[in-house]
Amino acid sequence: MSMTPFRYARPMALRDALADLTEHPEARVLAGGMSLLPLMKMDLAAPERLIDLGRVQELQGITETPDGIRIGAMTRHFELASDEVVGRCAPIVAQAAAHVGDPQVRHRGTIGGSLAHADPAADLPAAMLAADAVIEAASADGSRMIPAADFFVGPLVTELRPGEMLVAVRIPMLQGRRQHYEKVPHPASGYAVVGVAISLAVAGGVVQEARIGVTGVAGHAYRAHAAERALEGEGLNPGVIAKASSLAAEGEEILGDAVYASAEYRRHLLQVTLSRALQRVS
Ligand SMILES: Cc1cc2nc3c(=O)[nH]c(=O)nc-3n(C[C@H](O)[C@H](O)[C@H](O)COP(=O)(O)OP(=O)(O)OC[C@H]3O[C@@H](n4cnc5c(N)ncnc54)[C@H](O)[C@@H]3O)c2cc1C
Repeated sequence: MSMTPFRYARPMALRDALADLTEHPEARVLAGGMSLLPLMKMDLAAPERLIDLGRVQELQGITETPDGIRIGAMTRHFELASDEVVGRCAPIVAQAAAHVGDPQVRHRGTIGGSLAHADPAADLPAAMLAADAVIEAASADGSRMIPAADFFVGPLVTELRPGEMLVAVRIPMLQGRRQHYEKVPHPASGYAVVGVAISLAVAGGVVQEARIGVTGVAGHAYRAHAAERALEGEGLNPGVIAKASSLAAEGEEILGDAVYASAEYRRHLLQVTLSRALQRVS
C-alpha cells in the first residue's frame, strides 16, 4: 500500500490552521489519523494537503464550566474514558469512549475526528445525542454552535461546511441523570453493529425526560424520538421498557449488509439492546 504524495502543514495555533484551510480548500485536517490514514493508504482519499492539528493548543483539554463541560476537539478517546470531570458530569460520554476500538485506537483517535468523520457505526455520536451536546465549529470567518441533533446528516456527512473545523464539544450539566451506553460490537472491527446511549431524568420513579441516541443501524446516528416519548411520564417497568424498545427504529431506514448484519437482524438487535440499557438504569 502506498499513498499519493501530499503537502503537510503543522500549525501551532487555531487561527493559523483555519487560515490554512481557507487558503487550501482541497486540504483535509489530520487529527488522530485512525480513519483518514487508512482511507489514504487504500486510495479511497487522496488529499493534496494535510493540516495536522496535533500541536494546536486551543484544541486540547477538558474544562468544567458553570453550565457543563467543554471538550477540545483533539481530546483522545482514552482521556474521555478516564477523565474525572467527564466521568462525573457525562458518564455516558466516558462509557462510549471506553467502547471505541482497542487501546491503540483509543490513544490516537480524537473526539473531533470521530464526530467529523461521522461513521454510521461510531460510538461517540450516539452519546452526543443522548447528552444533548452542542458542537462548536469555527472557520476563518467566525464560530457557530450546532446542536448534536442537527450535526449528523448521513454516512460520513455532517453539518460542517467547507473551511469549517470542529473545535470543541459542549456538554450541558444535567444533574441526576441515569445514563448508560450499551453496545453490540462487531467481533473483528469493534465498531457498533448496534449502540444505544440513554440519558434519563427520573423523579419519583417516573421518567421526566428521555434522550436515546442510536448508532450502527442507520445511515447516521439518530435520536429515537418515538421510544423517548413512550418512556416520558411512565415508570421504568417491564411493559414500558418493552413498548419503548419496540419503537427504537420508528421512522428510520435500517441498514442491512452481507458483512455485519441484515436489516431484520439489526432491527431485532436494536430492540434487545435498548431493552438491556433501560433495564440497567431501572
Ligand atoms: C482498528 C480500528 C477500530 C476502530 N474501532 C472503532 C470503534 O469501535 N468505534 C468507533 O467509534 N470508532 C472506531 N474507530 C475509529 C476511531 O474512533 C477514530 O479515532 C475516529 O473515527 C477518527 O478520529 P481521528 O482523530 O483518528 O480522526 P482522523 O482519522 O484524523 O480524521 C477523520 C476525518 O475527520 C476529519 N477531522 C478530524 N478532526 C477534525 C476536526 N477537528 N474538524 C473537522 N474535521 C476533522 C479529517 O479531515 C478526516 O476527514 C476505529 C478505528 C480503527 C483504525
